[in-house]
Order: sequence, then structure tokens, then C-alpha cells
Amino acid sequence: MPGYPLIGAHLSTTKGLAAMVHTAVEIGAACIQMFTASPQQWRDKLYAPADVEAFRAALAETGIGPVASHESYLINLASSDPALLEKSRAAFVQEIARCGVLGLPIVIVHWGSYKGSTLEEGLARLAESLNLLIPPAENAGVQIVLETTAGQGSYLGGEFSQFPRLFEMVTLQERLGVCLDTCHVYAAGYDLTTDEGYARTWAEFDHLIGLDRLRAMHLNDTEKLLASHADRHCNIGKGLLGADTFTRLLHDPRLRDVPKYLETPGGDEGYAADLALLRELAG
Ligand SMILES: [Zn+2]
Ligand SMILES: [Zn+2]
Repeated sequence: MPGYPLIGAHLSTTKGLAAMVHTAVEIGAACIQMFTASPQQWRDKLYAPADVEAFRAALAETGIGPVASHESYLINLASSDPALLEKSRAAFVQEIARCGVLGLPIVIVHWGSYKGSTLEEGLARLAESLNLLIPPAENAGVQIVLETTAGQGSYLGGEFSQFPRLFEMVTLQERLGVCLDTCHVYAAGYDLTTDEGYARTWAEFDHLIGLDRLRAMHLNDTEKLLASHADRHCNIGKGLLGADTFTRLLHDPRLRDVPKYLETPGGDEGYAADLALLRELAG
């Protein structure tokens, strides 16, 4: 797909994996993010070999990809509750295995919450989780990618300065990737809406995290104010980031090859409209 920006969306797997790939083609998505199991349940999911084969064939036939996994919402790899921490790590091992079966190259993870302890202790627990999980992830051929968050309450990952603090406790830290969510960073206080704020945000990102770690982006407009620490996605151009912010992003040569996934409302129709607008802004 020459000249086609690498933008896609978080799609549903309910109609089956191959059907999801064909939906991507229909709505104009070049890449896909998905859940490999229900994000609200701890249960593992087994894929029939025939379905996996049909999925891989559909990807090869259409050229859609990369397909990213987004971890379950229940997982908290920084939890101060030993039982929940244990359960989260075990569920993540299953997540890694499913990514391996499906051939997904990246899994996008949230930092989790340090509730019930200090921020520093939360970072240390997350680092310990990553030290346990990076080797099996590598064996399965999937890279762990940490998502920037809105930094609400006791949730880690809102400030870029937390990345180097975490990295220094992770043995194989060079194996970690990062996903920047436009809605989340704005909520965390990074203003992408002005030329100056945009330049400052990426300079800080590069200095503290490293642009070479950027493996994915979530393109979401937002209903919530700068530095509100509130996470409310809305359709592209309909929120406080506005169309101009996405035009700026889509013309940034540093971000050209980074897969960008929408997580905006309105189902497949909402995605189709957002993707059409983004392609126009990129043109
Ligand atoms: Zn996320
Ligand atoms: Zn969000």
C-alpha cells in the first residue's frame, strides 16, 4: 500500500480472527490492535489451529499489520496485593503464549497501580514483574511495550521521568518498547496542541525515554483538559487535541514508520470515519 499511512484501530475479535482482518480492509485500517482474550476476565483462551491458520493467511493476503495485542484490564504488574500480583504475572505468561500462537510481535501493557504502597515500591514491583516476563516474551517472539498513561491517582506511567526510573531496575531494559497515547499524554500534562508544546513533548520523550523505543502509538482525541489526569477518548478532531494536532503528528517524519492505533468510540463506523479523516490530514 504505497503512501498509505500506518494507521489502524483496536478491532473486535468476536466474529473471528480472519473476519477481523477483513473488517480492517473494509474500514481502511492498515494495522490492528486486539485483545487475545476477554479483557475483563482472567480466563485463558485457546485458539483452534484452523482459525490461527486462517488468520495468518488473511494477514498475508491483505498485507494488514502489524497486529498488536493489548493486555487485559485486570492485570496489575505493580500491585501491592501479593495475590493479585501473582495472578497478574500468571495471566501475563498466558498472554505471552497466546501472542506466540498468533504470531503477534508486540503486547501493549499498562504500568498498573501502586495503591496501598509508595510510588517507588510500585515501580520496583513492576520492574520485578518485567524481569520475570521479558525472557518468556522473547522466547515467544513478542516484545513488551509500555503504554504512557494519564497518571490518574495511584496509576504509574503518567510522567516521562518514571520511565528511566523503571528502566534502571530492569535487567533487560533494552528489550522494552514504548507506546505513546495522545489522549493520555495530554491528560498527563504534555501539550501536543501547540508547535512549541509538541516540540517540547517529543524532546522530553527522546531525552528521558528515547525515540528509538517508540514501537506504537494510540491516536485518540480527548474530552478532558490538559493535565486533568482523566482518560476520556473521543473521535479525531472532536476533542481538545483537534485535527491540527493529528496533522502535525502525521507529518512528523520521525513517527512515519510507527504503527498507530485508534481507540476511539463509535465501533467500526466511528473508526472508518476517523481513519478517512486521518488519511486526509496525512495527505
Ligand atoms: Zn491501554
Ligand atoms: Zn485511554
